[in-house]
Amino acid sequence: MSEERPIDMRSDTVTRPSDAMREAARDAPVGDDVYREDPTVNDLESRVADLLGFEASLYVPSGTMGNQIAARVHTERGEEAIVERESHVYKWELGGFAQHAGLQVRPVDGDDRGVISPAQVHEAYVEADGHRPGTGLVCLEDTHNSKGGTAIAPTDIDAVADAAHDLGVPVHLDGARLANASVALDSPLHRLTHEVDSTMMCLSKGLGAPVGSMLAGSEAFVEKARRVRKLFGGGMRQAGIVAGPGLLALENVERLAEDHEHAALLAEGLEAIPGVTPYTPETNIVLGATDDSAEAFLEECAEAGVLGVPFDDHLVRFVTHWDVSREDVETALDRLRER
Ligand SMILES: *Cc1c(COP(=O)(O)O)cnc(C)c1O
Repeated sequence: MSEERPIDMRSDTVTRPSDAMREAARDAPVGDDVYREDPTVNDLESRVADLLGFEASLYVPSGTMGNQIAARVHTERGEEAIVERESHVYKWELGGFAQHAGLQVRPVDGDDRGVISPAQVHEAYVEADGHRPGTGLVCLEDTHNSKGGTAIAPTDIDAVADAAHDLGVPVHLDGARLANASVALDSPLHRLTHEVDSTMMCLSKGLGAPVGSMLAGSEAFVEKARRVRKLFGGGMRQAGIVAGPGLLALENVERLAEDHEHAALLAEGLEAIPGVTPYTPETNIVLGATDDSAEAFLEECAEAGVLGVPFDDHLVRFVTHWDVSREDVETALDRLRER
């Protein structure tokens, strides 16, 4: 391991809160949020509802909990959920749709950017009858993490949502990094969510908050979601302490453009590094195909003082974020060149 601080690009969740966020945590007016008496949480929930273009939103401890609550609220036990095969809800949430909502997932293969088509929704749809469970939900993801942070266009989301709605099926958008998509596409957040029934967005990734995600939808949806949050053990008390920094995180949307520039710089530099072939990033995620195993490549990187994560046997992921400056990217590339 190099003497200096490792440059940590395992995820944009590794950011440490700014001094302003620590002050906001200390100074936040608080109350018991389970009684809906925390003014900071109430403020955050109404601001995010406006930003995302929904009637209401709910502060939840994690993105995973937001997605799981959405699945539970939208569906009946035993139904099917149509998901993209590489999606976070399918791959990385411990099979939660089955555990928390009693759903059977029906994965469909998106294109190389993770986009599924209206025709695929029609094909995968199952009508409930005496033998068949019925489709209860379609779940989309933007940006698409496993496909390398691809920013899915609002028209692609609308098209799938319209197809689902024609079949009477609600749509949830996993927008853990929706703010990255918004910046990359130069499209307001509420435009991306226009046709979907609910959206989850993380405050704790590129936006830099220490804790928390938002789940947004109609008043009726959020009322039910609040009950399910309690059921799942996510009812928090003086949550303004963490929601305060969350309010500041909302001011970091435009800043994500820097992360995207840094990711482009990293990918460009990786072209010249032996052992890895980078994909061109659309946002803050850089995937690279490795010649040897991903684990072996990452071990060498770590020894040189650069951290990423394996995404597959021969695929690695690096993520840029606000604790990684342009200089850090240049240093990381120097270290990898010299390794
Ligand atoms: C990170 C992530 C989540 C889950 O968020 P957590 O706060 O880590 O639970 C969900 N979906 C996607 C696409 C993610 O990248």
